[in-house]
Amino acid sequence: MYKLMTPGPTQVKENVRLARALECTNPDLDETFVEFYKETCEQISRMLGTENETLILGGEGILGLEAACASLTEPGDPVLVLDNGLYGKGFADFVSLYGGRPQLYTVDGRNPIDPQRLEAFLREQGHNYKYATLVHCDTPSGILNDIKTLCPLLKSYGILTVVDAVSSMFGEEVQVDGSQIDLLCGGSQKAVSAPPGLAFVTISEDARRAMESRKTKVSSFYANLRIFDGYYEAKWFPYTMPISDIYGLRAALDNIQGDPGVLPRHAQMGQACIQAIRSSGLKLYLESGFSNTVTVFEVPEGTTAEAILTRMKEKHNIMLSGSFGSLAGRVLRIGHMGANANEADMKETMAALDETFEALGVSLECSLEKEFSSNMRRARNG
Ligand SMILES: *Cc1c(COP(=O)(O)O)cnc(C)c1O
Repeated sequence: MYKLMTPGPTQVKENVRLARALECTNPDLDETFVEFYKETCEQISRMLGTENETLILGGEGILGLEAACASLTEPGDPVLVLDNGLYGKGFADFVSLYGGRPQLYTVDGRNPIDPQRLEAFLREQGHNYKYATLVHCDTPSGILNDIKTLCPLLKSYGILTVVDAVSSMFGEEVQVDGSQIDLLCGGSQKAVSAPPGLAFVTISEDARRAMESRKTKVSSFYANLRIFDGYYEAKWFPYTMPISDIYGLRAALDNIQGDPGVLPRHAQMGQACIQAIRSSGLKLYLESGFSNTVTVFEVPEGTTAEAILTRMKEKHNIMLSGSFGSLAGRVLRIGHMGANANEADMKETMAALDETFEALGVSLECSLEKEFSSNMRRARNG
């Protein structure tokens, strides 16, 4: 087994794996499971700072994004798709698939979306959109968008928001009510550190009204969020819930909730990592807007992404990640989110990168491991 230092799926702690091995009841017929499901949903809502209802969906993170778009979009609806990364742009496909008219707002992918420029765009070019989609941390580049400012801004123009926070939640602060987010999408396999398999979505009153006042049917069963309407009262799920996945998710959420140091640790580690990359002379992909959950750096001259990833696996037993789309082969990604965000594993990763670059004939200006460690010490001492 490789040590996973990828930006999802991430390491899964033993107590989460064991929770998935618990004996199973019939989740369709046993009312204790309905309670367990609802409590887990309520726990997610609390942890994301919202009174809104959360639904856990039986499908990988992508299902949440598709379900949000499927449930809101009616044929012809104009939708603003904020794009400064691959997942950002990808929302346009879900919008068109369900008959909407996506309008891309594409900006530079090395910096976060600028709220002032977005506001100028809405004022000058119009703001007749049913909803807007945006990504908190766009994982292939590691860019972090300021949802705390962007979502209330969109809302002030009467635009609902769909936010993909799959790779940011619980590594970066996400306050759904404070940021007035209508549909927030999460997944199990990033900073939550449960295996892949589950998506969840928080649903605001405004989003619910928009779904209820549709004139046309949602062209999907599985991706229609309203199939859960009244499930608790009826003790009846729209499809059989993946009970072991949900047991695992609950244990992973408990791990996060029981650890008040989660967000500060992600911040220290993210900062220490980007500083170390900078000092070493390697080039960070982003100019600003670094997420504390993932660091993305460019493949230096004289070697390849493939060579680095292979040596990291074969010599050091550590799995890092390349990227995809236009970034494929150009950058490498270290995922320091969730259970990966521990100092020992990060030091080991940095030391392994030192060795790998040396072996591949790339000379660094300092040791990544030494620089990372001293940055961590400094961060801890305030
Ligand atoms: C991982 C991830 C998802 C979930 O999708 P997969 O690519 O299927 O893992 C959605 N959005 C973002 C930003 C992600 O990082």
